[in-house]
Amino acid sequence: MNTQQYFPYVNNKMFAENVALNDIAMQVGTPFYCYSNTAIGQNYHGYQQAFVDQDALICYAVKANGNQAVLSTLAKLGSGADVVSEGEIRRARAAGIPANKIVYSGVAKIASEIEYALREGIFQFNVESEPELELISQIATRLNTIAAIAFRINPDVCANTHAKISTGKSENKFGVPISKARLVYKQAAALPGIKVQGVDVHIGSQLTQLAPFEEAYKRIAQLVLELREDGHSINVVDIGGGLGITYDAENIPSKQAYANVAKNQLGKLDCKIVIEPGRSLLGNAGILVSSVVLIKTGEERQFLMLDAGMNDLIRPSMYDAHHDILAVDVSNTELKTYDIVGPVCETGDTFAKARKVNESKSGDLIAVMSCGAYGAVMASTYNTRMLAPEVMVKDKEFAVIRQRPSYEEVINSDSVPSWV
Ligand SMILES: *Cc1c(COP(=O)(O)O)cnc(C)c1O
Repeated sequence: MNTQQYFPYVNNKMFAENVALNDIAMQVGTPFYCYSNTAIGQNYHGYQQAFVDQDALICYAVKANGNQAVLSTLAKLGSGADVVSEGEIRRARAAGIPANKIVYSGVAKIASEIEYALREGIFQFNVESEPELELISQIATRLNTIAAIAFRINPDVCANTHAKISTGKSENKFGVPISKARLVYKQAAALPGIKVQGVDVHIGSQLTQLAPFEEAYKRIAQLVLELREDGHSINVVDIGGGLGITYDAENIPSKQAYANVAKNQLGKLDCKIVIEPGRSLLGNAGILVSSVVLIKTGEERQFLMLDAGMNDLIRPSMYDAHHDILAVDVSNTELKTYDIVGPVCETGDTFAKARKVNESKSGDLIAVMSCGAYGAVMASTYNTRMLAPEVMVKDKEFAVIRQRPSYEEVINSDSVPSWV
């Protein structure tokens, strides 16, 4: 089981840092997301320390959790941002992340987004295809500016992760095949408004082994040498994100071990290293706190029915993801086996099957662990359920960092045409 040092038990009650979860629940209601500010900071420092002897820029992958309080926390620590849309550029800028620390990934950037990014003056476009390169060139030329680019190279490496979050195999939609790389760089060098500056690779998410990174970076290092032979000046290697976290019993390599792999494979190139971690900065810094609605005794099993559902946290139904599920109050030490489900009208709305949890009753609080990344950002209002609020804790303080919307706000955002 995953140790949750930022969510400790004190006298049998779970806390977020030095705040009792029960106190937050009384004030904001359930379900809610809760993030530890200290955990985010420590995870960031872990990367800083691991890469301290390399010329590295940490660009937090905003899509993991784009809340302004999260981004501001990271901005103040000096983080840049890896973004995949204009919305994420706007979020990063609003939180104080300088444009020259923003790298723009994203499989199919559209013209208006490219224009916005150019006007902001971002550090680098990670280009995913030749048509995208041409579009960037046209827009940069029209704006009389220069787009600094890297191609996202698909190194054809198996990341050994879930199929839906594996991105570096030749059958995936991402990037330019490494076999075509020299050709596309040649095309790029000939286009107006384009400055070739780097190479980018991101092979997937929730990687639990270093070998796929090592293989990918080895191929990228070789490519950089070839591109330099071809006359390109390559000063940046963006090594992507993807380092996993412990959800269950995964043994995750340390950030230092990961940094050593990057250094061993790429250190001799004398390039700036861009890192794009998302999950490994936020994942274990957040939880989803829910209440037990009722216990239903089925013919074969007991269902622990929560007031959080798949619309709040989709990872279990979408990726078969494991999350530890813990009672917030563990003074009753009797363990029971439950199927833990949400209230949404889908069988897929199941957080865990046959899971042992301290015996619970209606109204008890339940914590779904390791939800800081790809949790709140993937939530929806399916079943007209309000988006769960987000709370940030620091030491003894907590603050709501996104409120639960009212029913009026949600319903009034629709409009009915006069001809209906
Ligand atoms: C999602 C993504 C990341 C972050 O991945 P994590 O597994 O959350 O670290 C980094 N770079 C790109 C291009 C991505 O799409």
